[in-house]
Amino acid sequence: MKEETTVTSPLQIHMFPCLQDNYGFLVRSPDTGETACIDTPEVDKIVLALEEKGWTLTHIWNTHHHWDHAGGNLELKKLYDLKIIGCEADRKRLPGLDIGLKDGDHFNFAGHDVHVMETPGHTIGHIIYHIPSAQAAFVGDTIFALGCGRLFEGTPEQMFDSLAKISALPDDTLLYCAHEYTLSNGRFALTVEPDNQALIDFMAKAKTRRANNLPTIPTTVMAEKLANPFVRANSAERLGAIRKAKDNF
Ligand SMILES: [Zn+2]
Repeated sequence: MKEETTVTSPLQIHMFPCLQDNYGFLVRSPDTGETACIDTPEVDKIVLALEEKGWTLTHIWNTHHHWDHAGGNLELKKLYDLKIIGCEADRKRLPGLDIGLKDGDHFNFAGHDVHVMETPGHTIGHIIYHIPSAQAAFVGDTIFALGCGRLFEGTPEQMFDSLAKISALPDDTLLYCAHEYTLSNGRFALTVEPDNQALIDFMAKAKTRRANNLPTIPTTVMAEKLANPFVRANSAERLGAIRKAKDNF
């Protein structure tokens, strides 16, 4: 008898700018053709990216309910035969949600295990998607390069715990943040830790990339542990104080 072998090819990740400063992301399995879009910031740009690649959308993975993340759900659902995945607790705020998930849930995407983590703070029903096989996490508006999401609904305690969960991922995990905020985050971060050499170096690289119209995303868990003042805050109180200062920066 022949032994059966399953080949699981690496996932393809395609990233493209949307709206003012959002990023759209497509994740595709070359084995099955399944293609997920992380959030739906701008329908036209997502459709264009799919057409350019010759890919067909099969899933939407929502990180949270804000319009620049879930606003295109229903329009895309009309265009493609797809399933929408998101936080069960936010079912009422996620248009067209098919599959509701909660913290600790896993699902299988074309042979790849996807871990769901609830990361409240920016919103209460915010989730992120970690794909260990791709060393990648789609983190929405929870963490940004050198920053974190505004606390629209959650508390500093919640954001502190959420950032701790992200810090606990392997150091080389690529963090796909949903916005290009790095330069303005970095200018603020330098007021918190002016002598942090990792931060100074990160900013120098980011400036060069932006000057050449290149993204600074993805970042990594290790880079954020070294340079992000919100990740480096040693208490929820400290994080809250830094967040307040950033809001007024
Ligand atoms: Zn948001």
